[in-house]
Amino acid sequence: PSHRRVKTPRRPALKKPAPSGLKDPVGVYCRVRPLSRPDQECCIEVINENTVQIHPPDGYRIFRNGEYRETQYSFKEVFGTLVPQKELFDVVAKPLVEDLIRGKNGLLFTYGVTGSGKTHTMTGSPGDGGLLPRCLAMIFNSIGPFQAKRFVFKLDDKNGVDVQCEVDALLERQKRDAMPVPKTPSGKRQVDPEFADMINVQDHCKAEEVDEDNVYSVFVSYIEIYNNYIYDLLEETPFDLIKPKPPQSKILREDQNHNMYVTGCTEVEVKSTEEAFEVFWKGQKKRRIANTQLNRESSRSHGVFIIKLAQAPLDADGDNVLQEKEQITLSQLSLVDLAGSERTNRTKAEGNRLREAGNINQSLMTLRTCIEVLRENQMCGTNKMVPYRDSKLTHLFKNYFDGEGKVRMIVCVNPKAEDYEESLQVMRFAEMTQEVEVARPVDRPLCGLTPGRRFRNQIRGGPINGEILLPSFPPLPSCELLDINDDQTLPKLAEVLEERHKLRQKLSEEFAKNALTFKTILRELDSSIMSKENYVQGKLSEKEKIITGQKTELERMEKKIKTLEYKIEILEKTATIYEEDKRHLQQELESQSQKLQRQASDKRRLEARLQGMVAETTMKWEKECERRVAAKQLEMQNKLWVKDEKLKQLKAIVTEPKSEKPERPSRERDREKPIQRSISPPPVPPSSNFITQVPNSQQFVSNQQVHRRSNSCSSISVASCVMEWEQKTPSHKHTGGISKTRTRQQEPGQSRDCNTSDRRRGMCWTGITEVPKRRDELEIEEDQCCRNAPPVRLRHRRSRSAGERWVDHKPPSNLPTDTVMQPHVPHAITVAAASEKALAKCDKYMLTHQELASDGEIETKLIKGDVFKTRGGGQAVQFTEIETLKQESPTGRKRRSSPSSADPPADAANAEWTDVETRCSVAVEMRAGSALGPGYQHHAQPKRRKP
Ligand code: ADP
Ligand code: MG
Repeated sequence: PSHRRVKTPRRPALKKPAPSGLKDPVGVYCRVRPLSRPDQECCIEVINENTVQIHPPDGYRIFRNGEYRETQYSFKEVFGTLVPQKELFDVVAKPLVEDLIRGKNGLLFTYGVTGSGKTHTMTGSPGDGGLLPRCLAMIFNSIGPFQAKRFVFKLDDKNGVDVQCEVDALLERQKRDAMPVPKTPSGKRQVDPEFADMINVQDHCKAEEVDEDNVYSVFVSYIEIYNNYIYDLLEETPFDLIKPKPPQSKILREDQNHNMYVTGCTEVEVKSTEEAFEVFWKGQKKRRIANTQLNRESSRSHGVFIIKLAQAPLDADGDNVLQEKEQITLSQLSLVDLAGSERTNRTKAEGNRLREAGNINQSLMTLRTCIEVLRENQMCGTNKMVPYRDSKLTHLFKNYFDGEGKVRMIVCVNPKAEDYEESLQVMRFAEMTQEVEVARPVDRPLCGLTPGRRFRNQIRGGPINGEILLPSFPPLPSCELLDINDDQTLPKLAEVLEERHKLRQKLSEEFAKNALTFKTILRELDSSIMSKENYVQGKLSEKEKIITGQKTELERMEKKIKTLEYKIEILEKTATIYEEDKRHLQQELESQSQKLQRQASDKRRLEARLQGMVAETTMKWEKECERRVAAKQLEMQNKLWVKDEKLKQLKAIVTEPKSEKPERPSRERDREKPIQRSISPPPVPPSSNFITQVPNSQQFVSNQQVHRRSNSCSSISVASCVMEWEQKTPSHKHTGGISKTRTRQQEPGQSRDCNTSDRRRGMCWTGITEVPKRRDELEIEEDQCCRNAPPVRLRHRRSRSAGERWVDHKPPSNLPTDTVMQPHVPHAITVAAASEKALAKCDKYMLTHQELASDGEIETKLIKGDVFKTRGGGQAVQFTEIETLKQESPTGRKRRSSPSSADPPADAANAEWTDVETRCSVAVEMRAGSALGPGYQHHAQPKRRKP
C-alpha cells in the first residue's frame, strides 16, 4: 500500500537532507512460484496473506521429539502461486517508484535459490513483464510530459549531476549525432521479440505526486557482480572476434553523500520505457554471452539494474530548467536480481567454477552477516562494525542500510520438495532481515519558487486560482538545422525571438509597476507589523513582570521548603532519639518484669517453705503438749510417791526405834546446806522462786554444781526436777517470742530453747530419747538420768565391723529434701516415733531432725547416739555426733549478704570481735541462745561485760 505524504512547508534547499530520525523495517515479501509439474511434491503452503508454512517433504521428513515439524514464517505479505506480476508490483515496487519520483532512494532485491523465480519476478517472462519493466513504465508514465531535453542533465563521474541550458544541450546532442559510431539507442530500434511482450504493459500506472514544475531525466545502468568483481554490462567495447577481451572490472567509490557508486560505469539517459528496457535487454544479452564465453555459472551472478532520476525545478518563467546545481535532485532505485542462494555443494560446480561459485556464495554470506550484525546492533544497542566492505555486493548497498532509503526484499521460493532444505535457509534469513530497520528518507526539499509555473505560462489569459495570468511567450520553433541550405528556420526563430523580446520589455515595465505597488504594500505591512510588535512588546513586558513575580514567589517557596526540610530533619532526628529511648525503656521494663517474676516465684517458694514450717511447728507443739501433760501426770505421781515415801519414812520413824532417827535428816541437811547458803533467807521450800531469785549467772553455775553433787540422792533429785519443771512452766506459755529478761532467768544448761529441754526431760522419764542440742545439755541429762536411774551399759558396744543395729528415727513431720546426699543407714529399724521396743533391739540411734536455718533453708541434722540400758529398765541414748545436711541456694546467700535492716546489729557485733574477752563472752552467749539469732547476742553483750 502506497503511503501519501502531506507536503511539508517550503524551506530552503539543503545539500544533504537531514535524517528524519524515523526508521522502517526492511520490507520482506514472499513469493511462492507454482510447481513446474503438477505431480511434484510440495512442501510449502501459503497459510494466509502474511504466513507460509513449510514442512519437510516425505523424503526429508524428520521426526524430532516424536513430532512432525512444521514451521511457519511470517512476512509483510505473502504472494501465492496465482498472484499476478501486476499485483506484486503494486504492493512492492510502486511505493519505491513513487519515492524515486519524490527524490528518495530505494533498493529492491529478489532472494532465493536458483529456479525459485527471482528473474521471473524481477525481469519477467515473455508476455508477463516483471517488476523492472513495470517500474520503468510507471516512471515514464509519471514524468513523461515533464522530461528534460536530452543532455540538459549531465551525470558527472562522481555520482553527481549537472545541469546545462537547453541550447548547450542541443549543441551536445548535435555533436553526438554527428559521431558515426556507435548509434544512439534512440536510433533504429531492433525489436527483440523476446522482450517485446514484457514491456507491453497495458497498465498505465502513474505516480500520484509528480511535481509538474520540475523537469526530469532518467538514467539507467546495469552491472553484474560475479566472483566479487563488478562488470559494466552497458559498456561499449569493440567486439573482437579473434581475441575477445575479458570484461574489465570496475571499482566502487563513495560520493559526498556517502552513496556508493561504480566508477566509470555507463549511465544511459533514456526517454521512454522501451528505450530503457532496450538498454537493459542489451545488458542482459551481454551477460548471457559473457557467461557462455567465459564458462560461467549464470545463476551465480548478481544483476544490478540502477535507475537514476534527476530532477530540477523550472525557472520562474516555467520554461527553462533552473540553472542551479544545488536545486537538482538525484534519486536512484536499484533493482537487484541476486544469485541463487543455494549452497555450493548443490550445484555441480567443478574446478574454477567451484572457486567462483564459492566467492559468489561469499557475497551472499557477507550479506547475511551484515544483516545479522545490523539486527544485533539495533536490537541490543551495540555498535559492532557491519562488514559491508567484505564483499562488493554489500559495499555497493552500504548506504541503503546505514544511511537512508527504502529497502525491500522479495523472497522467492519454489515449493518443490527438493528445495526444502534450501528454502528453509531462505526463510530463516528472510525472517531475520525483517528485524533490521532502515532510516526513513526525508522529503526532498522544494525549491523556493511558486508552484504551477509550468502551466501558468502555457495557458494564456485564463484566470487560474483567481490570478490574471501574464501572456505566455510564443513557443520557439524547432531550431535544429538539418540542412545546410535551410533558410527558413533561422528567420522564423529570429522573428519569434523579437516578439519575445518585445513582450519581455512590456513585462519588465509591468514588473517595475508591480514592484512599486508591492513595495508600498510591503511598507504598509511593515508599519502594521511594527504596531503589532509594540503591542506584543507591551504584552511581553507584562508577562515578564508576572514571571518575575512568580519567580520571587518561587524563591520564597523554595526557602520555605528548605526550612521545612530542615525542620523535618530535626523532627526525624528527635523521633529517632525518642524511639531509642522507648526501646531502652521497654528493655528496662522487660528486665524489671522479669525481676518481679523472679521475686514472685521466690516469694512463692518461701511461702511454701514457711507453710511447711508452720505445719511442722504445729505438729511439734501438739506433741509437746501431749508430752507435757504426760510429764505432769508423771510428776504428780512422783510427788505422790515422794509424799508416800515421806509418809512411809515418817511412819517408820514413828514405828521404828528413835536411835536411828537423827542420822538421815542431818545428812540431808548437810547436803542442802550449800544451797541454803547461797540462797537468800528464809529457807523457803525449794519449789518456789529458786532460780528466779538468782541474781547472776555465777550463782547459777554454782547452783548447777550443787545439782550435780546431790545427784546421788534420788528423792532430792526428783524434788529438784519437780522444781525445775515448776520454774520452767511459765516459759512454755511464751511461744510468740523470747524476751530478754525471761531468758536471762533461765538456767544456762536449759539452753535457749525450753522446748528442747522439756522434751529431753520427758524423754528421760518415759525412756524415750529426745534430741539434746549440745553436748553439755547431754551431760546434764545424763546427770538427771543418773539422779533418777543412772544408765548402765548392759550391752557392750559392738565394733562397727561387727554390724551395728540402728534405730533410724524419722519423725513424720520431716519434709523430704531434694539434696543429692541422702542419709542411708543399712540394717536399720526405721521408726516414726522413738519406741522403747525398737531401742531395746539396737545399740545405735539416729534422729533425723529438720529445722529452719537463719537463711530460710531447711537444715537436716542427723543426731547420732549410743543406746544404753538404764537402771530403771528403760533405754537411754548418749548422743555422740551431729551430722548436718544443708542445701544452700546461691541466690539466698546473695540475698543474705546484701545489707538489710536486720543486719546492721550483727555487723556491729562482728566489729566487736576484737579481743578474746569479747569473743568468749559471745561464745558463752551463743551457748545460751544461738538459736535466737544475732539480735539476741547483740543485746546480751553489754550485760556480759559488766564485772
Ligand atoms: P531464478 O531466476 O530464481 O533462477 P527463474 O525466474 O529463472 O528462476 O524461474 C525459473 C522458471 O520458473 C522460469 O521458466 C520461469 O518462467 C518459471 N517461473 C518462476 N516463477 C514463476 C511464477 N511465479 N509463475 C510462473 N512461472 C514461474
Ligand atoms: Mg535467475
